[in-house]
This record gives sequence, C-alpha cells and structure tokens, in this order.
Amino acid sequence: MALAVTNAEGEKTLQLEMPVRSWIELSEERLANNFQVLRERAGSATCVLAVVKANAYGHGEEHCAIALAQAGATWFGVADVREGAAVRRALAAAGQSRAEILVMCGLLPEDVPAVTEHRLSVVVWTLDQVTALRSAAGSKLHVEIETGMGRQGVRPGAELDQLLDAISDARLVFAGLMTHFCSAEVVGSARTRQQQTEFERAVQQVHARGLRPHWVHAGASSTLNDPDWDPSWLSQLAESLNAQPMVRCGIALYGYCNPLQGGSPQIAPKLSPVMTWKTRVLDIREMLTGNCIGYDSTFVVTGPMRVALLPVGYADGLRRSLSSTNRREGGWVLIRDSRAPILGRISMNLTMVDVGAIEDVASGDEVILLGDGIDADDHARFAGTISYEILCGIRRP
Ligand SMILES: *Cc1c(COP(=O)(O)O)cnc(C)c1O
Repeated sequence: MALAVTNAEGEKTLQLEMPVRSWIELSEERLANNFQVLRERAGSATCVLAVVKANAYGHGEEHCAIALAQAGATWFGVADVREGAAVRRALAAAGQSRAEILVMCGLLPEDVPAVTEHRLSVVVWTLDQVTALRSAAGSKLHVEIETGMGRQGVRPGAELDQLLDAISDARLVFAGLMTHFCSAEVVGSARTRQQQTEFERAVQQVHARGLRPHWVHAGASSTLNDPDWDPSWLSQLAESLNAQPMVRCGIALYGYCNPLQGGSPQIAPKLSPVMTWKTRVLDIREMLTGNCIGYDSTFVVTGPMRVALLPVGYADGLRRSLSSTNRREGGWVLIRDSRAPILGRISMNLTMVDVGAIEDVASGDEVILLGDGIDADDHARFAGTISYEILCGIRRP
C-alpha cells in the first residue's frame, strides 16, 4: 500500500513499501508537471496517452495511474491484460471510471476474458488475435501498422485489408490506427521519415475503405523531445479520418528522456525525476590500512576509513556495475546531502560506501540511492544501458 507522507525535506510524497529494506518516494507534483509539459508540446488538439506499463517504469502503476488521472490523463497504456486489470481496479476505486486503457504488447488466447471484464482496448496486428477476440464482440481494437520497427504490426496493403475484413466479420470495433517509431531520439532521422510515409499509406488505405477509427496515434517521449517534430503532421493525418490524434508517452512522465541526437531537446530540460529511492544506514565500521572490502577484495583500504553498510544490493535493482575498485571509481549514494562513493563489489543484498568525508553519520541515517544528485541516467551510464532499464529494474513494491 502507498502512504501519503511528508518526507524529511518537508515535501508531500507517496511512499511505497518495498519487500526489501528500501523504499521509493514519488512526487505527485512532479508527475503532474511532467504530464503538463508533454501536453503543451503535443499541442492542444492531441491527446497524451500515459504509458504505465512495467509497473509504471518501476514507479508503481496503480498510484501513478491515479495521480495522472487526477492531472487530466484519460488514456493509459499497459503491456498486458494483467496490468490492465490492475490499473482498471485502481482507477475505479479512485472514482476514475471513464479512463481508457490500451493493452499495447500483445494478447494470448487466455487473456481474452479479461478484455471484456476490465473494458480494455487492445493493440492487434494478427489474424490469430482477431480470431481469439471473436468471443469478446464489441471490443475496441487498435491496429498497429508495421512501418519499420520490425516488432509488432501489420503491413499496409493486402495484409492490412485482410485484418480489417476479419475485424468487421468478428463484430469487433476498429477503434484506432497506430504505429511506433524506432529512432525517435535521432533528429532528422531518415528512418522516421520513411516510417511516417508508410503510416500515411495505411491511413489512405483505411480512408479509401471508408473506415473511420476514433484514434490515430504515433510517437513517444523522444518524438516530443525532437525540435523538428511538427504536431500538425499527426493532427492532419487524424483529421483526414475524422479521428483524434494521440501520442503515447512513458519515460518523460517519470522525468527522463533518452539523450537526443543532433538537436536541442524540447522537453527534457523541463522534466524532473519523480522517483527518489531511499534506504537507511545499517551499520558503520572503521576500516584499517590493508583491510579488504567485499567479494574478490576488489577494494583494499589504503588508510583509516569509515565505511557504512547499506541493506540493498543487486537483488533490489542496485546494479552491480556501480561497484568500484581501487583503480576504477564506481557509483555513489547521498547521505546528509554529500556523496558517499560505493566501495568494492555490490552484493546481492548489501553494499558498502565510504562515509569518511561526511560528519556524524549514524546507523539509521537516510540514504538516497537514486534521485536528485544521482539519477537514473547516472546509474545507466555505469551499467551501459538506458534510464528505462534502471527504473523498471528496481524491485517491484
Ligand atoms: C513503451 C511504449 C511507448 C512509450 O515510450 P517512451 O519512450 O517511454 O515514451 C509508446 N508506445 C509504445 C508502443 C510503447 O511500447
């Protein structure tokens, strides 16, 4: 359960218990501000679908969906029907019964009853999916067009014709047409242009058949971050089908964005991280010259040193690549607003940090593992990955 609490800095936050000896604090204010930044950039005509898949990128899908609904979000994107059911229940309990929930990452035959039960919209691209959904007549389908992502999607032309026929035969509702860009963080990408052209072809095909879905959607956080992105491309495409335009944003809601390549970012500077991941000091010990720290003794103490033990490790999502050796600095945590460098190898459930430069550290002191001062981009740099993987890798509450 989430508790509304005022944290040590006097900010109002939602606190989520973790099954481990750490917790995350969410700033609902930052979440709402980030959503507002996206809405402004998307343009007033365009709906911003809030992506809350993967436990809202590690932030807790139920609480984020409720906070976003209160900030004005009407559409929510989840990966599968299990997440869809959880978000539906949470929103209903908060009195947000009109929200639309889109299952974006595929459907298995056993998922079909949940589609009806929880009033989920579903992204489809295969005849098998449409066949499976026959027992859920009236369900709203969003057809994904393959334009270059090579992941999900039906190709424009004969394949799309067949799929649209099957949808109307099964008395299902063709409610949306969508695609997903693979290189949105590259400004002026020829790939994105090709994908746009291919998507236009699908829109024309749907138009020629006289079909009118309610929604046309494309683009994610990086799309809105691109200075060359013109929201009118999408709104004109939608208008040609009498549909509403929509973009689907995830990472930016939580305050992050992939680095933009080749231009100045439009939204990234206006976003702030929503999550602070915290723990407490478990123990403090004085180490002497020659003492070793952690597995493989990758760090050897070269002078008297005060070391704090933290009750988190890689099992909790603190990536082992933040470990250090005497020759290579690693990551750090923040205690009393100062950096405490990680010493030696991070263990499964424990981590040691250098607190020699921080006065009066005591067992029980609060520690920031990730937040302002050491964010998910910093963790990602050490781990050779992206902020997305760091955030959704923090162990689920
Ligand atoms: C995850 C996802 C998004 C959101 O992407 P961000 O880069 O996090 O904004 C949008 N569309 C689809 C289909 C996705 O799977």
